[in-house]
Amino acid sequence: MFKKGSLLYSLFNNKCPRCQEGDFYTDPNPFHLKNSLKMHEECSHCKLKYMKEPAFFYGAMYVNYGITVAEGVATFIITYLLGLTIAQSFIAIIAVVVLLTPINLKIARLLWINFFENYDKKYSKD
Ligand SMILES: [Zn+2]
Repeated sequence: MFKKGSLLYSLFNNKCPRCQEGDFYTDPNPFHLKNSLKMHEECSHCKLKYMKEPAFFYGAMYVNYGITVAEGVATFIITYLLGLTIAQSFIAIIAVVVLLTPINLKIARLLWINFFENYDKKYSKD
């Protein structure tokens, strides 16, 4: 769907930010909640160490917060345009945020590591 070398390719295909070959999470399905955030120690292809320092992924909390707020605002705008009441909009926002939380958490970590590691063609297969 997204072209290799782009940030979105890494985010939505669960790939290493540097080579975009090796997997980042051990289980790509975000709704397998028990293993949802288990990551590989390093990239199987380019050997990039994912946990750069202790607590490296704490910063992903802020990324997740931003994503969640954006989804809440987008949901409110959509429900407002559909003519729902404030109470109905509030329930819709909670439902959307709860349903998308597993996906947001995965994307937030990948986005966070992508801030620090850029795609480098020399590590890629092609
Ligand atoms: Zn890699």
